[in-house]
Amino acid sequence: MRKIIILCGALAVSTLAMAQDLPEMSYEIDITQNLDTFFVTLSPATTLDKSARIYQFAATAPGTYQTMNLGRFVSLFRAFDKKGRELLVTRKSVNQFEISKPHKIAKITYQMAETFDTPVEDFPVYLMCGSSIEEDHALINTHTIMGYFEGYQKSPISISVTGKDDWKIGTALPMEGNRFLASSFDHAVDSPILMGELSFADTTIADTQVEIYTYSQQGKFDSKSLLAGMSDMLDATLQFLVELPVDRYTFLYFFEPGLTGATGAWEHSYSSEYVLEEKDPTAEYMQSVTDIASHEFFHIVTPLNIHSEIVESFNFVSPTPSVHLWMYEGVTEWASNMLLYRGGVVEEEDYLQNAIATKILVDEKYFDPTWSLKKLSDESFNGGAASKQYANIYFRGSLVAGLLDIRLLELSGGQAGLRELMLKLIDQYGKGKPVSEKTFFDDLTAMTYPEIRDFFDQYILAANPLPHEEYLAKIGLELTRGESGISVTKMKEMSEDQRKLFEAWSKNL
Ligand SMILES: [Zn+2]
Repeated sequence: MRKIIILCGALAVSTLAMAQDLPEMSYEIDITQNLDTFFVTLSPATTLDKSARIYQFAATAPGTYQTMNLGRFVSLFRAFDKKGRELLVTRKSVNQFEISKPHKIAKITYQMAETFDTPVEDFPVYLMCGSSIEEDHALINTHTIMGYFEGYQKSPISISVTGKDDWKIGTALPMEGNRFLASSFDHAVDSPILMGELSFADTTIADTQVEIYTYSQQGKFDSKSLLAGMSDMLDATLQFLVELPVDRYTFLYFFEPGLTGATGAWEHSYSSEYVLEEKDPTAEYMQSVTDIASHEFFHIVTPLNIHSEIVESFNFVSPTPSVHLWMYEGVTEWASNMLLYRGGVVEEEDYLQNAIATKILVDEKYFDPTWSLKKLSDESFNGGAASKQYANIYFRGSLVAGLLDIRLLELSGGQAGLRELMLKLIDQYGKGKPVSEKTFFDDLTAMTYPEIRDFFDQYILAANPLPHEEYLAKIGLELTRGESGISVTKMKEMSEDQRKLFEAWSKNL
């Protein structure tokens, strides 16, 4: 079973047009005073509205499907007017501070404990979504440092981090002088910052500029070797998608031995952040790092491009699940493996074993079969038992996407599978044009075949047993259950129909 958890982030819609009417929020973040604490000062550029009484810290963040309550890490929250007089502040809830006269605010100051070294009783913040300051690096996922005034979520933001002058900086955020710029709070949250003693490498895939920054405490990993390990994957992604929907992309890697807590990766619109155990870089480990990168990079399709309105207008106050988690995570996990197989990066035998047989075994052996993909989504923010089931989105979710691919190929006579449907969705939807949370299943049915509605009902909305044997047989594959586990192999003799569908299934149409 995979120990690491893979996360994905969603997008920040460009809000520059609206942001022009809102004052800039200038953040000064001092990381030199104490190794475990961020000292934050926020100065709005102009007077705030009287209604901006609440300063909000994030309860969650896009793509994490996790309650985080960042207000837990705040201390010494204070507000001042322009004469330096303190304004009355009342804590309303774990994530909300109320300021008595918001129109008089000249600045607020507070301290934020880093999440890596601050124990909490429940809802631990995944490392790749967290923050860390040490002598040789700082990892800043901005929602762990910053909040926003009610009504000013779309204000443009500028951030200055007082760190060490010789540190390298990796981020997808644009910079002006020594300040990071974001078009809104959402944009900032979408753009982690990694600073410190980092190695760097870059390349170009088609027209997309790819940059890699790596912090490796023991020096076992560097950006050049990570890039070398990923280049076939990046080429295979390009083949699968025909063209990449981003013009630039930044991989931020953080390796440290002995990490405690959930490691993995978090995906964003123009970057992804990886916090991984620093082990010996064996071929096997490098492969697993590349597999994670393949998954994260594919998120540029969904939820970055294709998502419902729940993701598009993100609610940082109350975590709100989207029923289309099956696509954001399940389809992404399926595609990130399938594109490696179809691109010739992964051998057929390995694909059948790792992406199908092992996932079936894990789904059946380690997770509750009564939890539908819809329930995984509904319960994702609830912690406890729900968080134990959540990881099945990478197993059952991927398997259901694979079955959907086979069903679509069957119904179209081998003309169009799930990849072709995703390419159609990229054309039809995108940033600023979300799919409908409510009608998307019907819309997909209308785009494909009436039978697909029944597929969604049975295997996404309900938790019916997955018809692996039946569906794999359609493409000439045989599933065997034995004492040593499950295996999937090619049938020795295939019918003409099976051979035709296998051909269609095994390559990019
Ligand atoms: Zn993901």
